Amino acid sequence: MATALVTGGAGFLGSHLCDELLRRGLRVVCVDNLETGSLRNIAHIRDARFRHLNLDIIKPYFVDDEQVDFVYHLASPASPIDYLRLPLHTLKVGSHGTHHTLGLAKQHRARFLIASTSEVYGDPQEHPQKETYWGHVNPIGPRGVYDEAKRYAEALTMAYHRQQGVDTAIMRIFNTYGARMRAHDGRAIPTFLRQALQDRPITVFGDGSQTRSFCYVDDLIRGMIALAESGHNLPVNIGNPREHTLLELAETVIEVTASKSELIFEALPTDDPQVRQPDITLARDLLGWEPEVELHDGLRQTIEQAGVEALVGAGQR
Ligand code: NAD
Repeated sequence: MATALVTGGAGFLGSHLCDELLRRGLRVVCVDNLETGSLRNIAHIRDARFRHLNLDIIKPYFVDDEQVDFVYHLASPASPIDYLRLPLHTLKVGSHGTHHTLGLAKQHRARFLIASTSEVYGDPQEHPQKETYWGHVNPIGPRGVYDEAKRYAEALTMAYHRQQGVDTAIMRIFNTYGARMRAHDGRAIPTFLRQALQDRPITVFGDGSQTRSFCYVDDLIRGMIALAESGHNLPVNIGNPREHTLLELAETVIEVTASKSELIFEALPTDDPQVRQPDITLARDLLGWEPEVELHDGLRQTIEQAGVEALVGAGQR
């Protein structure tokens, strides 16, 4: 039985990854200090092949498993609210945390995959974004702590690959949604759902003409595992290429929730990217992967799986 170690396994994406790896018959070691994740996300897992280790990966860490075949490195604050609250932690997870996790993969001769982000492209000057685009990031703005931590982590990953011979993969994740997002994490979909389900005004930043591409979590996890199981070492975009304006997203959320909410407009956050759309040609060619779930269906499944109470954030703050 193969073993996978998942850092950040008690977070939104990590917990879905743990579920899917177990479903596919692997043993799973989840390493998570619950900084932005929660035991609620893994409480449903009752399986002898699963264990959670409460470790802070910023400090050197080890696991006593003899065999680790895959290391999925997802631990990092990921929503703007979190990384603006935890700027130094975010930089350290990207640097020290990634060093320690790559070291662990090297020691176990495991295949390593880092969850990088479309934010490495910054506010892009090339659209849609291909993996060959080097990005347009403001290193000293408030978001720089996240964007640069991920860029550094990618550089580190390539150095471990080239110099230390670690078998590494870099996954550039575009906006993803699904059950277990936190209602108050500040990202567009959980915010809009929370507001719509309570018939409260929906807060759109700017004039809502900025675009995002939203990938349903099941599609993303399928892509993540396919990339980990491929032999590819250079970055691969995984996301939904279907682009929506924020205004369209708000209207879709209102429709799906049959909400009476109105839209109100607020100031754009600093360095908010104007456009975001992955070019997924590489993922299609290399992995035969593409997203299958449409936004309407994904939103409906999110509501069904998470339940209204969780989405409005009852008891979560
Ligand atoms: P999340 O905040 O829900 O999960 C991150 C997890 O990492 C949490 O459970 C947290 O407790 C854990 N963690 C943080 N610091 C840690 C530390 N020092 N030691 C151990 N564990 C620690 O975020 P998410 O949305 O699930 O994102 C997971 C990964 O995917 C992140 O690396 C993020 O940058 C990347 N990503 C996510 C998205 C998205 O749309 N959700 C988009 C792009 C990239």
